[in-house]
Amino acid sequence: MTDILSLARPEIVALQPYQHASWDPSLERIHANELPWRGLADTSAAGLNRYPEPQPATLLTQLARLYGLPAEQILVGRGSDEGIDLLTRAFCRAGQDSILVCPPTFGMYAVAARIQGAEVINLPLRSANGFSLDIAALAAALTPSVKLLYLCSPNNPTGNRLADDDIDRVLDLCAGRSLVVLDEAYVEFSTGNSRTADLARHPQLVILRTLSKAHGLAGARVGAVLASAAIIGLLRKIIPPYAMAQLTIEAAAAALEPAALAVTQSRIAHLVRERQLLAANLAPLACVTKVWPSDANFLLVEFVDAAAALAAIRQAGLIVRDVRSMPGLQRALRITIGSPEQNARVLASLAALKKA
Ligand SMILES: *Cc1c(COP(=O)(O)O)cnc(C)c1O
Repeated sequence: MTDILSLARPEIVALQPYQHASWDPSLERIHANELPWRGLADTSAAGLNRYPEPQPATLLTQLARLYGLPAEQILVGRGSDEGIDLLTRAFCRAGQDSILVCPPTFGMYAVAARIQGAEVINLPLRSANGFSLDIAALAAALTPSVKLLYLCSPNNPTGNRLADDDIDRVLDLCAGRSLVVLDEAYVEFSTGNSRTADLARHPQLVILRTLSKAHGLAGARVGAVLASAAIIGLLRKIIPPYAMAQLTIEAAAAALEPAALAVTQSRIAHLVRERQLLAANLAPLACVTKVWPSDANFLLVEFVDAAAALAAIRQAGLIVRDVRSMPGLQRALRITIGSPEQNARVLASLAALKKA
């Protein structure tokens, strides 16, 4: 097994991290220059006058249970976006290294790379093949400069899962050469399973999970990076020392209590039924040319006239994602599954549209 950290920036591997004030809840704090009094509106459990716990232990324990991994294989941060940012900064040298992405896909991978000054290599998914991976092209593009290869499954905005066989092939191709960052933001809505169990066999695998989608906490900003303890240790050196706000830590901890998780499960099932209903009702409409199969909480829909569809939905007081500028999606919109009432309103607005 190659040392996976040999792929990282040497100066990050060597970095001496910021020493934050030590964390010992059994002692009263007069070591961090905090005020001893709470604000009047402060209803938090721990007190917002105090710095939050770095990598909060209770939350990490809950995430460890949720994802079935030891806590040292989990980094908790401000959404998956922070995980993407940290991975890019830890593994990509400006002006030298590159990342590989498979568009149409989530935009943050490329944005984080460009901020860092890393090159972005695009390997389009095969739309004629249900937006599947092009393994041959991927193998050809995997030069030594590639440090991060991003896969998104289920993919945003196309909604499909990547084939497990294809993920296996990418993992084999990248062994010892590049990290494979598998973004599972929507896996809770999917019929497929998370690939977390593969972390034990593949040190190059990194998985991104988030509480923003299925757990309904987009506003709290909580995401997790799942990887080998070596990679997590490296990312913990560069995450800002008090990244997680106290209010967020408490909101996430509450959302991961067993009773809250049971509600989350039933909401996921409800949402999946609504997705199937919306897809079935959109497909026969005159203005719709294709409803792509979805394993996520949205549908990619192609229209005779996407601009007219966008306007009709807007007229009904709803906004959907215009993805027409993405490669291969010139006539498509991405529609998030809303409440049953919202989904009905989308359908009614589109049913009134004539075929162009
Ligand atoms: C929404 C989304 C995320 C979640 O990002 P957060 O920063 O955790 O809110 C991650 N990846 C993809 C592909 C997404 O669509």
